[in-house]
Amino acid sequence: MNAYLVGGCVRDKLLGVPVKDRDWVVTGSTVEDMLANDFSPVGKDFPVFLHPKTHEEYALARTERKSGVGYVGFTVHASPEVTLEEDLARRDLTINAMAETDSGDIIDPFNGQQDLKDRLLRHVSPAFIEDPVRVLRIARFAARFNFQIADETQVLIKQMVDGGELEHLVAERVWQELSKALQTPQPSIFFTSLRQVGALRVLFPEVDRLFGVPQVPKWHPEIDTGIHVMMVIDQAANLTEDITVRFASLCHDLGKGITPKHILPKHTGHEASSIDLTQRLCERLRVPKELTTFALKVAEFHTDVHLLFELPAERALQVMEGLDCFRRPERFEQFLLAGEADFRGRPGYETVEYPEKRVFAECYTKASEVNAHQFVEAGMKGEEIKTAMHTARIEVIDDILSQYRK
Ligand code: ATP
Ligand code: MG
Repeated sequence: MNAYLVGGCVRDKLLGVPVKDRDWVVTGSTVEDMLANDFSPVGKDFPVFLHPKTHEEYALARTERKSGVGYVGFTVHASPEVTLEEDLARRDLTINAMAETDSGDIIDPFNGQQDLKDRLLRHVSPAFIEDPVRVLRIARFAARFNFQIADETQVLIKQMVDGGELEHLVAERVWQELSKALQTPQPSIFFTSLRQVGALRVLFPEVDRLFGVPQVPKWHPEIDTGIHVMMVIDQAANLTEDITVRFASLCHDLGKGITPKHILPKHTGHEASSIDLTQRLCERLRVPKELTTFALKVAEFHTDVHLLFELPAERALQVMEGLDCFRRPERFEQFLLAGEADFRGRPGYETVEYPEKRVFAECYTKASEVNAHQFVEAGMKGEEIKTAMHTARIEVIDDILSQYRK
């Protein structure tokens, strides 16, 4: 039996980035051999085992053939005769189709090392078109490493898109890849890469539609909404690792894609559509509940951060209550980060002071210091306490805001 390190770990080592998990391919071996050597079987669809000590994954070398529609219809063939090169040939990208021997030699039949140097994502074989998940993966790798998609691979992907292949993707896989893409340093590249090959329109039509929609002239000099949203998600990625904030940043302006032109120049007016489209996107992709709830709140309230110095104190309090942030303080922090990313996601605003964030935080701190205690002491009960707290909170907020109103 021969074992080789393969795939992502070889790629990441050559790139000099931290290796997450190490995967192995085994040639010249059978399921029985593996079991006799105390490996434990884990594969459902093909023979994969865990090493008895390291618990790393060892897969028997295999070939795959398309046998049905979508990305599930594959016939797997694993046997001791399948060579390492044959196993590498079934992989998606040249940079993912390299192996390393135990003496440290790189086996690279598809010139993955050259593509790593050239920062190119290139398909291994025409069989690339057999699995639409690869379209999402390639866009995600583009965002993760800031690589380009090779021209001939773009041609293949366009064929897949035109052939309706992406319609076979299931929600779970789309969300899985989207959530990983949102964890990359520059998530915008995931979307712009998909757009470049015509896949954004199919996979995320509500994002695609933002391109070409002009922004409010006063606030967003000379850019369209698509570019703005791309800048916002990169700013969010810059400000926080929190995928809740990053996902909300993606959704915050979705409504602008379907808002009538006469409403767009006003500051507000797209929120109802943004909420609606965010809701539908989250249902379609089965986005986790907490991320959905927060994205909906940001779609509803993000304009209020920017308009803070024009807001009545009642509205500022309504935003805090709407976010449920007296019970969940982390929510307000996340909300302000999403607001900041929105503010910074415009050319020229990347490093400008944003006092609204600081002042809104101050309003929140003071408002949360108002508690039931003093009103209970004064002999109030039930509804009466609630009303008194509400009034007291508005007062402290108004005290702060009145210093900043023009
Ligand atoms: P990551 O660091 O995100 O895990 P990875 O390249 O290791 O990246 P995995 O999903 O762990 O990705 O897959 C391991 C390897 O299996 C890949 O490097 C690639 O060779 C192969 N592979 C994974 N998914 C596919 C696919 N859909 N089509 C072809 N090959 C694939
Ligand atoms: Mg991996």
